[in-house]
Amino acid sequence: MATRTEAARLLVHAAAAEYDTGGPDVTLRAAMAKLFATETAQYVVDAAVQLHGARALRRGHLLEHLYREVRAPRIYEGASEVQRQIIARHL
Ligand SMILES: Cc1cc2nc3c(=O)[nH]c(=O)nc-3n(C[C@H](O)[C@H](O)[C@H](O)COP(=O)(O)OP(=O)(O)OC[C@H]3O[C@@H](n4cnc5c(N)ncnc54)[C@H](O)[C@@H]3O)c2cc1C
Repeated sequence: MATRTEAARLLVHAAAAEYDTGGPDVTLRAAMAKLFATETAQYVVDAAVQLHGARALRRGHLLEHLYREVRAPRIYEGASEVQRQIIARHL
């Protein structure tokens, strides 16, 4: 979980650096960062719920809240499938 989170953070920083330096791969790097970070968030929160057991699903628990929160970003601002298409187009 920590390794995937760190990898997601590095992809986000790489996309931001590409934007800041006016590099040619902003779209590609942004799509990779958005895809990987949102899917990692889902993976990590799901694994955390599994670790904590049923209490994590009780109303008011932070993980119950995060479990609902992390789902939407895989859909809005370009669904994961759309990000994959953008990435494929640049390969
Ligand atoms: C919490 C939340 C906040 C939002 N906020 C805003 C906002 O502020 N402003 C705004 O304009 N919109 C907003 N949206 C809408 C969001 O942008 C759309 O939900 C998103 O663009 C996907 O469109 P859709 O829901 O109609 O799904 P659809 O376009 O019907 O897609 C459904 C699914 O089909 C698949 N799919 C779609 N297109 C392709 C494709 N080309 N290739 C392969 N698979 C594909 C994907 O799996 C996708 O998840 C928000 C959505 C959510 C959930």
